[in-house]
Amino acid sequence: FWKETLNQLQQELEEVEFSLWFNIHYLRSEENTIIIGVPSSFYRDQFKIRYHNLIEEKLHELSGQPITLQYEVVSKKVIDQETTFSSQTSQRPSISAKDTTSKSLNQNTLNTSIQQKDPHPLLRRDYTFSNYVIGDNNSFAANAALAISKNPGTAYNPFLVYGGVGLGKTHLMQAIGNYIHEHSNAKIIYITAETFTNEFVQALQANKTAAFKNKYRFVDVLLVDDIHFLQNKIETQEELFHTFNALYDANKQMVFTCDRPVSELKHLSDRLKSRFERGLTVDLQPPDYETRLAILKKKADARNITIPHEVLELVSKNISSNVRDLEAALTKLIAYTELVQKPITIEVAQQHLKDVFASPKQANMSIEAIQRVVAEYFSLSYNDLKGKKRTQNIVLPRQIAMYIAREITEYSTTELGLEFGGRDHTTVMHACQKIEERIRSDPTLEPIIQNLIRQIKDYRTKN
Ligand code: ADP
Ligand code: MG
Repeated sequence: FWKETLNQLQQELEEVEFSLWFNIHYLRSEENTIIIGVPSSFYRDQFKIRYHNLIEEKLHELSGQPITLQYEVVSKKVIDQETTFSSQTSQRPSISAKDTTSKSLNQNTLNTSIQQKDPHPLLRRDYTFSNYVIGDNNSFAANAALAISKNPGTAYNPFLVYGGVGLGKTHLMQAIGNYIHEHSNAKIIYITAETFTNEFVQALQANKTAAFKNKYRFVDVLLVDDIHFLQNKIETQEELFHTFNALYDANKQMVFTCDRPVSELKHLSDRLKSRFERGLTVDLQPPDYETRLAILKKKADARNITIPHEVLELVSKNISSNVRDLEAALTKLIAYTELVQKPITIEVAQQHLKDVFASPKQANMSIEAIQRVVAEYFSLSYNDLKGKKRTQNIVLPRQIAMYIAREITEYSTTELGLEFGGRDHTTVMHACQKIEERIRSDPTLEPIIQNLIRQIKDYRTKN
């Protein structure tokens, strides 16, 4: 009954939906109960909301008696070998970038030729969906990315993913590229905004802009990574704007990543901003503890290394900033075992990751400098300035500190909100507006702010 239920659901549900969410696995049955394995408790909860009733009804219908569904969280590894994004060959659609609408017609035509393909030269082959761990920090983005991979150009165009460094933007973007490459003959280009800029400047100097235009305006899928880099690159922005329009009109899929919401890019033309935001925009958040643990496990498995569970827990607990740091810690541990030929214990991990565990503070240094200097200038305590109190004598200095932070650092308003007592990004935006208004109406304020900025710079060099 279980098999038949799945078969029927597969027929009934959207293709994309099925392959994304049916990452489940039959474990066993006890009288009138079927127990299935799921990769995490987050996954289980989401799955239950979506499909629990539907499946129970189906089971009832097919077997003629009520059957209960139960879940067990089992290790990722077991599940990955059974059913993942990439192994569901039976119901893969073929994607032809030229003809994305006739999905059902060409459903089977390409399936036979899939596996033998060479990897795409511009994409990392390990950046795939099956290597991407889903948690509640990224499930929306991953769902959307998969939908796009299956219907490039028609699902959501453009697709914009933003989020802080090391949260998996590049991985997700290349997973889209790898998926489409594997399932079609679409012409795909992956490029960082930085390389795009350099290439364009070279083309300009060599009088070869025609070749440059041809290269980018006639692709099926264009993936441009880290578009925040385009700030202040006026000619390159202009070129990308025209590239965008050409591809958009031809229904070619575009994907962009950015380290903050596009609206917060200060030096990017408005018309380019509005293009980037025309399709679907999603953000990636830092992974929670459970997802971090799952990612570490997956990375360790991929390298064929066994690391005790307690050690993985320790690392997941202590490194929460981003996935890249998690991986760096793992690499360090693996190097240790390989060189010293000793198993990794909690003590070993603690000792060798001391600096990694202690360091994430550093990035906040410049914000701290701003807060300390501003607090001192207004005779407030540093903690009051950062904190929650909203008395009149604190509010203005705090707004000034936020304004300065916005001016002289690259932090987004979201990140600044966090640095200022966990406030919302709208509070920071509001503060900046207030100060801007005040500068216009009160001529004494601007010199004070300039003076503070000088002190902050001194403070930073001294400390
Ligand atoms: P970004 O582009 O946002 O700075 P990356 O895509 O380069 O981040 O990710 C940094 C590292 O973390 C990569 O090695 C990537 O494979 C890994 N990573 C990030 N998110 C995940 C995830 N959800 N599952 C597995 N690995 C991840
Ligand atoms: Mg990146």
